[in-house]
Parts: sequence; structure tokens; C-alpha cells
Amino acid sequence: MTREPGVVDASAIAARYRTLVDEVLALGGERVRIVAVTKTFPPEAIAAVAAAGCPCIGENYAQELVDKWGRFMARDDVGPVPEVHFIGGLQSNKVRSLAPIVDVWQSVDRESVIAELARRSPGARIMVQVNATGEPDKAGCDPADVESLVGLATQGGLVVEGLMTVGPTDGDPARTRSAFRSVAAMVTALGLSEISMGMSGDWRLAVEEGSTLIRVGSAIFGERPPRTA
Ligand SMILES: *Cc1c(COP(=O)(O)O)cnc(C)c1O
Repeated sequence: MTREPGVVDASAIAARYRTLVDEVLALGGERVRIVAVTKTFPPEAIAAVAAAGCPCIGENYAQELVDKWGRFMARDDVGPVPEVHFIGGLQSNKVRSLAPIVDVWQSVDRESVIAELARRSPGARIMVQVNATGEPDKAGCDPADVESLVGLATQGGLVVEGLMTVGPTDGDPARTRSAFRSVAAMVTALGLSEISMGMSGDWRLAVEEGSTLIRVGSAIFGERPPRTA
């Protein structure tokens, strides 16, 4: 069956979301919240997954989120409004336009962004993104810098809820598990409460290693359309 691009099958999204919830619970993930990653999908995808009970959505691109959120909130029947988690590469100059929309800034990985958040969004809820796999071109701070960034953010009045990480690009299960385990250990050592790790391909390992927020896109919404904006 071919699908018209941009047309959202709300009942298929709801069914896949509910299946995911059941699978997470079957793995013992009572504490786990699902962040439905809606990047490149239209506002109707947000509405569909929120109506199915999903508490949070995740977006990666500032301008896309600003446009999409305006269209989502302008719907005649908005329905449940999910928390918005920003999970993409974050530049300081995007913070201002995102601040009225974003509830949790998951991808904070450097001082300049912390300073800008403290200025534009006092008291914001954040997570520090850590590159736990040593891959050179990957977002996230060095594990050695986590503690000082958490300290800086806290001094700046931000609320650091936990750490966020992306598993190894090659998806190797042993490397994935060890990366997730090391991030969970950092969260415990720092006395934080949230661990954002696990995507469509590796959320099971993440839940086993203590994730409290899994960020799942394609397993709920299907294959992502190419980015246009
Ligand atoms: C796109 C993205 C996801 C979701 O990826 P899927 O493989 O579609 O589940 C999760 N986290 C981050 C940081 C992403 O960029």
C-alpha cells in the first residue's frame, strides 16, 4: 500500500504506540516514559500520539519545531498537549525562539548553551548530553566534562534532571550496552534522576540498563520522510 506523503494514519500510530507501551512494561519499565520523536512528521502525528496517551514528544530542528508547534496548537480541537523535549543539535542563537515551546532541553552539551538558557529561560529543565562512545563527530560532551557542566547549569539556576545519550552508530549490542551502563552509572554518581537513552533500534537494551526516557520515532511513526525544511 502506498501512503501519500504527509498523510498520517492516526490509528496505526496509536496501535504501534500501545504495543510499545506493553513491550516496555513487559521488560519491567514501569518508570519509563516514552518520548515520541516526531521530527519530519506533520502536526497530525503529534496529535495522534498524544491522543493515544503519549506524555512527551521529541524534536530535533528548531525552525521545524517552531512552525509545527504553531500549527499543532492552532488546531480546532487541540486535544492533549504533550511535553516538548528538544533532542537535536542546539545552537545558542536558537534558544530564544524555542524557549516558549520547549519543556525539557535534552541536548545541552556545552557552556555557551547553558549560559544562553540561563539568560533566556531561567529555571529551565535540562539534561546534559554525553558522548559515551568516543565517536569523534557525535553530539554530546566528553564524559570527563559531565560533572562540571552539571555544576555550571545548577549554579546558573537550571534544573538538571539527568543525562542523555545516543548509542553507538553501528548499533553493536555489546558496545551499546556498555555505553548505556556507563551513562546510568554517571547519573547515579551525580545523584540525578533521569536517564534518556534508547531509540527504535536499541530501546530494549536501554530499558534493561535503567533508562527512564526512551526516544522512539520510526517504531511508532514508520519510516521518516526526507527533511524538506
Ligand atoms: C531521530 C532521533 C531519535 C529517534 O530515532 P528512531 O530511530 O527513529 O527511533 C532519538 N533520539 C535522537 C537524538 C534522534 O535524533
